[in-house]
Amino acid sequence: MSVRVEGVVQGVGFRPFVHRLAKRLMLCGHVGNHADGVFAEVEGTRDAVRAFLRALREEAPPLAVVESVRTTELPPTGANGFTIAASPQGAEANTLISADSATCDACLRELADPADRRYRYPFINCTHCGPRFTIVRGVPYDRPFTTMAGFAMCADCAAEYADPADRRFHAQPVCCTACGPRLRLDLLGSDPRFGQDLLAEAVRRLRAGQILAIKGLGGFHLATDATDPTAAATLRARKHREDKPFAVMVADLAAVRELCEVGDGDAELLTSRRRPIVLLPKRPGTPIADAVAPGNRRLGVMLPYTPLHHLLLADVGRPIVLTSGNVSDEPIVYRDEDVADRLGGIADAVLTHDRPIHIRTDDSVARTFRGTVQLQRRSRGYVPEAAAGLDVDVGRHVLACGAELKNTFCLAKGRRMFLSHHIGDLENVETLRSFTEGIEHFRALFDIDPEVVAYDLHPEYLSTKYALDLPDVVLVGVQHHHAHIASCLVDNREPGPVLGVAFDGTGYGTDGTIWGGEFLVADLATFQRLGHLEPVPMPGGAAAITQPWRMAAAYLDLAYGDDPPELDVARRNAGRWRAVRSMARSGVNAPTTSSAGRLFDAVAALLGVRDTINYEGQAAIELEQHADPAERGVYAAAIADGDPLRVSGEDLVRACVDDLCAGVPSTVVAARFHNGVSDVIARVCARLRQRTGVNVVALSGGVFQNLLLLGVTVDALQQRGFRVLVHSRVPTNDGGISLGQAVIAAHS
Ligand code: ZN
Ligand code: ZN
Ligand code: FE
Repeated sequence: MSVRVEGVVQGVGFRPFVHRLAKRLMLCGHVGNHADGVFAEVEGTRDAVRAFLRALREEAPPLAVVESVRTTELPPTGANGFTIAASPQGAEANTLISADSATCDACLRELADPADRRYRYPFINCTHCGPRFTIVRGVPYDRPFTTMAGFAMCADCAAEYADPADRRFHAQPVCCTACGPRLRLDLLGSDPRFGQDLLAEAVRRLRAGQILAIKGLGGFHLATDATDPTAAATLRARKHREDKPFAVMVADLAAVRELCEVGDGDAELLTSRRRPIVLLPKRPGTPIADAVAPGNRRLGVMLPYTPLHHLLLADVGRPIVLTSGNVSDEPIVYRDEDVADRLGGIADAVLTHDRPIHIRTDDSVARTFRGTVQLQRRSRGYVPEAAAGLDVDVGRHVLACGAELKNTFCLAKGRRMFLSHHIGDLENVETLRSFTEGIEHFRALFDIDPEVVAYDLHPEYLSTKYALDLPDVVLVGVQHHHAHIASCLVDNREPGPVLGVAFDGTGYGTDGTIWGGEFLVADLATFQRLGHLEPVPMPGGAAAITQPWRMAAAYLDLAYGDDPPELDVARRNAGRWRAVRSMARSGVNAPTTSSAGRLFDAVAALLGVRDTINYEGQAAIELEQHADPAERGVYAAAIADGDPLRVSGEDLVRACVDDLCAGVPSTVVAARFHNGVSDVIARVCARLRQRTGVNVVALSGGVFQNLLLLGVTVDALQQRGFRVLVHSRVPTNDGGISLGQAVIAAHS
């Protein structure tokens, strides 16, 4: 029988795996690479062949992603033994590159073994672990096309590389103390030093409260002692980052459990080879300094994923902050030559090495929701795996340019959709460069030449302007919230139609206004807007996004006019309150929006949780954490008939104010507000089900990163008999937009 396997099956130890498997099952034949993956010819008993096909998927090596196994019957040839065939010459354009992977257990054992020739070598790796995507410069995936090209293998490494029985067979980044990259410590301003003993000095400096820039897989981190309040505060001040939480890295799972509540799904996620930052509830009385995640009940934690991390964490013996090496909103620094300029004012020393990073890739960020993973940022460890989508062929080559904030792009062809790593907020030149260079890199890696280009309808997005400037392509404008719902459909491998609830901060509507509290009926090709939050003015436009108290003023004015109750939020902002209120009334510099994000902002300010924000989504995040999860009370919001239906956010604000004035604790009010939003979502969907006959609801948009809201909304919908789709592998925030755009463009 002839077998063809497609997916991430080259450079991941697949041929040796097939070889071992065939020997075990006493099959004869051979295995080899070909242009689209791996092929094998096997001969043996029917049971053995059947077991072979099953094991190809079930026992595949850790970095392999088996997308398809196709078989053809062949007449027996009476072959003897089983061999690994030589690779054919020529381009291998359709093979896939694996994501970067955390150091495997076998390598960790060698790292800790004084008798091993790679004892304490910070760059140990093998076929099952190590850098991949971040070092690949081009295809085929072969050492000369990686940033390891400059390191000639020593005889020992070359022998391992060439031996099919060795676990480093065809491991492109294979290296050792004798032939591989070296650590380097730069004390900015003086000459760099090289060698393994530098680790001890880096550890000493971290323990003394210094800030180190440390080169990781996808860029430089800034590290400091997470238990030292002065160190954490100094890092915050130098990085110009006021409140946005820092992630921490700890040595192992036991150390995580000392800091945070760890559920089953969390433990699996933390220790997975992808090693994202996992957001976990902080335990009371942890030794983590307050300045690490101020005002936050959660902590972003990750485990070591490079040999260097393992060595450092074991020696430092306490949690360290490990945050992106950048200044405020710039992208992460990834080239040694940029470190002095851009991190010189922040870091006291730089722990780096001479293996270049080809493409910057941030840490991924995830949480678990009822035991399943929800990616908030899909990047290192996940990219460039194709986002396994619907079993449909997108046909023509497609590029989707994504949104403005949390930008990603997506390139698609055939059955594969390559969702890019997290690019960032397209608000500065450096990030825009990351975006355009990223697109070029993916085009080359996956041999995609876009004929169709999808873009967001917002005319001011830099991603939109980039798309509109491309020559000789078919342009498809995709509405933002339709893209959100489509991304949720792809994530769930559903074609629709669904009732789509898209709640987020900002998205350009087909009528030219800002949407963000939307009820759609949608599939992968089209949508209709069947309902939305009642639009309200945003006094000051963009200023209302960074100053939630302005949204409180706007909502209170709608609810109470000239006779509002006396509220603290008005007193706190008395200086500008009247001016902002008249801006809202006149509509001058006050565009209207149906945004759910702005409603959450208004309530956060109203409850005294937050008047102004220092990072996107801060007010809503703090409102979620402020709410008492045990509270079952529900505020009611009216639904105005019509096409589209309109939901009164004003009713929810009025209910909050009534309770506040009656002396109800703000934690209870916050919970009743969340419950009220969920309840009205379920009631609107029930009405729309009557109208459309659709009984499936997809929840998408950045507002659903709020897991309290997500939980009560899923419950409210299920109680009404709906089947509910939520995000998992694709971010619910704007990081998923490009995938939605790609699939919609392919279907239009
Ligand atoms: Zn390994
Ligand atoms: Zn070597
Ligand atoms: Fe959005």
